[in-house]
Amino acid sequence: MKRMTKVKHCAICGCQLSIKKHVYGEDSLDGRSHESKHHYVAKRLLGRSETRRNKSPRKTIFEQCPLKLEGKYGWFCYECHEELLQNLVLTPTDVERFKELVKLAGFNESQKTDSKDKIGQRIMLLHSAIEKGIKALLVAERRRRVKERRSLSYENTSPPLLC
Ligand SMILES: [Zn+2]
Repeated sequence: MKRMTKVKHCAICGCQLSIKKHVYGEDSLDGRSHESKHHYVAKRLLGRSETRRNKSPRKTIFEQCPLKLEGKYGWFCYECHEELLQNLVLTPTDVERFKELVKLAGFNESQKTDSKDKIGQRIMLLHSAIEKGIKALLVAERRRRVKERRSLSYENTSPPLLC
């Protein structure tokens, strides 16, 4: 009997994920929608990266996952994983603003020390900026859509005002 595999969808764009072999990253529909597992907090930040097994150990940034998401992951399409999440787009203005935020929060460094606390704090600060930005945009978009629906239903149900 053939095993039934559950169809998975990308956690961001919602596309149906492809599991076709040897096409990952190809510029084809299967390559672009190929399933890709993404850890919410990268293993390397927690010192659990397998790619460093034979190299000198790197001091970890977080001894414990600050978001309590160690080992948690989601399924994404190639595009959302590799091109959206892994290639964060920041303009020079974004960088300048973040730099100022880093300095105001006291997470800047004039020289590196043995401690990795500051980079950990900068990572959490950037996460916080993204989290707050997403929430703000979501609230604004929901309000815009409600307004749009209200004006559509008003147009459809109300007779024109005759003065
Ligand atoms: Zn996607």
